[in-house]
Amino acid sequence: MGFSLVPDIRVDSIFEITPEMLASRGISLLLLDLDNTLAPYSKNPPSKELFLWRERMESAGITLFIVSNTKTQRAEIFARSFGVPYIDGAKKPSPRGIIKAIEGCGKKASETALAGDQIFTDVLGANISGITSIIVKPIKFINPLIALRYYIEIPFRLMRKKELTNE
Ligand SMILES: [Mg+2]
Repeated sequence: MGFSLVPDIRVDSIFEITPEMLASRGISLLLLDLDNTLAPYSKNPPSKELFLWRERMESAGITLFIVSNTKTQRAEIFARSFGVPYIDGAKKPSPRGIIKAIEGCGKKASETALAGDQIFTDVLGANISGITSIIVKPIKFINPLIALRYYIEIPFRLMRKKELTNE
């Protein structure tokens, strides 16, 4: 909570997030970062695996919602084909887009988590908004700057023990 850079939950990928993990914390709304969390920057369509994961979440009563910082049309194209509502240009770590998504879904902060690959946007934004923060590993290092950012973030990632799943 507050201005903490420490995630509440750490997993290796989005696929390690299970409905049970969320339900045990009273979470029924999962906000999702797009770039490098659901798909690499350059590749557009959601994978088959991602569709299966979405079905598993939704049939367990978990609402999914994309909150992306991207200002390109990419978020819209991806979200439409994934079949999940979205907000783009969210300016995380600003809580504005995050709060808008929560209110739009008629949920409370205590029922919401945000999963993303970046400490300084996703985790910080979630913590400022008073929701559960979930850090995933970036799917791919597209350029050296992303790799550098990742190494700077490592200490904050490691402050949270990796979540154990049954999968
Ligand atoms: Mg990202």
